Amino acid sequence: MVPAEADASGVLEESTMPAQVIAGELKPSRLNFAQVCIQCGDRWCHSPECIAQHQRSRWVVCPDCFGELYRPSGDPCGCLYGLVETYPAAAGRQS
Ligand SMILES: [Zn+2]
Ligand SMILES: [Zn+2]
Repeated sequence: MVPAEADASGVLEESTMPAQVIAGELKPSRLNFAQVCIQCGDRWCHSPECIAQHQRSRWVVCPDCFGELYRPSGDPCGCLYGLVETYPAAAGRQS
């Protein structure tokens, strides 16, 4: 009585996919490299409002510099890490 292929349980692991970064889901970290909150400008900010606001925010590659931080003219771009926050149609905006 040999269990032929009954114990092939390891196969199931293949179906577990890691979280994928979808195009359009780019997002800079809320605290920048200086640990300053990009929402309110406070260092080491732990504000729940900032965290929630950051989670809701949507970012796209900067259309002015295409993520290179310098515009084609050579001027430094005012975007954030080559990303800019985008404001989808103000559905459910509360303030
Ligand atoms: Zn903050
Ligand atoms: Zn830019």
